[in-house]
Amino acid sequence: MSLSISELENLIKHHNHLYWHQQPEISDADYDLLVEQLKSLNPESDVLSDLGFKFDEVGTKVQHQKPMLSLDKCYDEENLLKWTNKSPKCSWVMMPKIDGMACSLLYKNGRLIQGATRGTGVIGEDITQNIAQVVPNKIEISGEIEIRGELYLPISTFVQYQNEYSNPRNAVAGFCKRKEQTQNIGIKFLAYDLIDAVTNNMIDKLTTLSLQGFDIPFWKLFKSDFLMQAAYEEVLEHRQSYDYEMDGIVFRINEDQIYEEMGYTTHHPKGAIAYKFSGDEKITTLNSVSWQVSRTGILTPLAHIEPVYLNGANISKITLHHANMIKTKNLSLNAQILVSRRGGVIPHVEKVIVAGEIPITIPTHCDSCQGPTYFEGDFLRATHTDQCVSKLSQRINYFIEQMEIEGIGPSWVEKLIDENLLRDIPDLFRLNRDDLIELDGIGDIRINGWLSSIQLAKNIELSRFLTALGIENLGKKTAEDLVTHFGDLNTIRNVTVSQLNNLHGFADKTAIAITQGLIQKSQLIEELLQYISFKDSQKIIGPLQNLKFLFTGTLENLKRNEAEDLVIQRGGQIASTINKNLNYLVVGEKAGSKLEKAQKLGVKILNEIKFMELLKVKNAEE
Ligand SMILES: [Zn+2]
Repeated sequence: MSLSISELENLIKHHNHLYWHQQPEISDADYDLLVEQLKSLNPESDVLSDLGFKFDEVGTKVQHQKPMLSLDKCYDEENLLKWTNKSPKCSWVMMPKIDGMACSLLYKNGRLIQGATRGTGVIGEDITQNIAQVVPNKIEISGEIEIRGELYLPISTFVQYQNEYSNPRNAVAGFCKRKEQTQNIGIKFLAYDLIDAVTNNMIDKLTTLSLQGFDIPFWKLFKSDFLMQAAYEEVLEHRQSYDYEMDGIVFRINEDQIYEEMGYTTHHPKGAIAYKFSGDEKITTLNSVSWQVSRTGILTPLAHIEPVYLNGANISKITLHHANMIKTKNLSLNAQILVSRRGGVIPHVEKVIVAGEIPITIPTHCDSCQGPTYFEGDFLRATHTDQCVSKLSQRINYFIEQMEIEGIGPSWVEKLIDENLLRDIPDLFRLNRDDLIELDGIGDIRINGWLSSIQLAKNIELSRFLTALGIENLGKKTAEDLVTHFGDLNTIRNVTVSQLNNLHGFADKTAIAITQGLIQKSQLIEELLQYISFKDSQKIIGPLQNLKFLFTGTLENLKRNEAEDLVIQRGGQIASTINKNLNYLVVGEKAGSKLEKAQKLGVKILNEIKFMELLKVKNAEE
């Protein structure tokens, strides 16, 4: 990757800002790589000193002696009790699940020797210098011992830092990764685990930790599981009265021996579970609504809200599923709305709490091509032109996905469109190394991956090519059927509506959409054919080899296309007209004129039962 010094500096400044103030876009390792590159190109760069990089121990990798696993989760009482039922007779300890940053502390002969982040669970990062101000530096336990807990910034303290950090957890992360000595901004540590210590149970551990000068979380012991739900609800109800953010409750088997006997998966211990607050809801302001165009041309509203911290993440945008939601939810700009994350994951507008004063305008035209909009059910569609840029990116994404071109995700497609490297689908096949290397954040490995994947796409199955064109009603299955029946692209491009009606029993609307779609895409197809060739479609070898069938009328037990598939799967062919080359006419109810014609030509005529018998006989002959 050859970035200039100034490009590197800008990139580092950009990611540094995201790192401290928002959500990072790249991994720490990638970030470090950029810094190392800049350091080697220009060790005197002002950017390096501005970042405060002193290449000391902070941030170096640390291997955990015992993996710091996650916790298994549940969201309701039923699943909580399923979990308690798995363990032998025992008691359980309830503790809060604090939404902070997990931390491991190593003490040797009573002295703090290392603090580390959870990291991947196996490898963390050294943060000793920074947290030495936060946790006890000396304890009275001899030998080597590991203590685990949560670093957090009390909500009352966070209020002062709101403009600097987007949420308390980011403030903690930012502080811990500082590479120079700064005063503690008010971060605290709650200790909740003592690894490999000689204790009998969880209460022992918590008591020991407390006696050694650690703050410990509140806890409660349960001898049976029937009061757990009530305890959970009580904490949920009073969660605002705690000075830290909680995203659930942890239940853990109290007895150490049973806890260990329950064992571990690679992801979590089986002796503990996090009962998450799934109904996390907050009230915020609806600032604006923008509109996104899908591949099929639907305009979907996207609500931009005053950012809120929900279930461990900042939410600033919420997709409204269709345009009509604006009406059904009575949304307006500046409205106070209640938002949640469904299942703790998907951002969702629950309802309006206080209506805003400005109505939301439904667009009358597509923003990028000016095509007029209209409602189809709940959905707002537009008659887009072929040049519509919004629809273009969706079309390209769909093409890439169907052609199985790997590595060029939607954000790269947008970048390529912005850089004018993609003006339409065929441009994909014109991408070259010289142009790509100029893109921000791209490397040799990625470029090689793209180019070889594009190369592979130049020789593909015809059916996949047809699907990738993005013609309405021409999905994967239909494309495969067209290829089976008509064989080559030329024939398929000239197929008529009545041929499709006859052949596959397609409704008129579908048949018209396919034939017109193929005509509309003529120019695109011609351009693509400069690059693309087709793999020979695999002929099916079977007992009906070289036999031509035609179906007419309504069959009693099989649908028309099911019957046709039975023929095709056995190597037979479906004819489109009656002539003397036809081997069998299969007749259902209301057969009509075809029957007469076949009789005249001496074609064998079968009813549905005879047809099925023929298949059996032919299968047996094989
Ligand atoms: Zn448009």
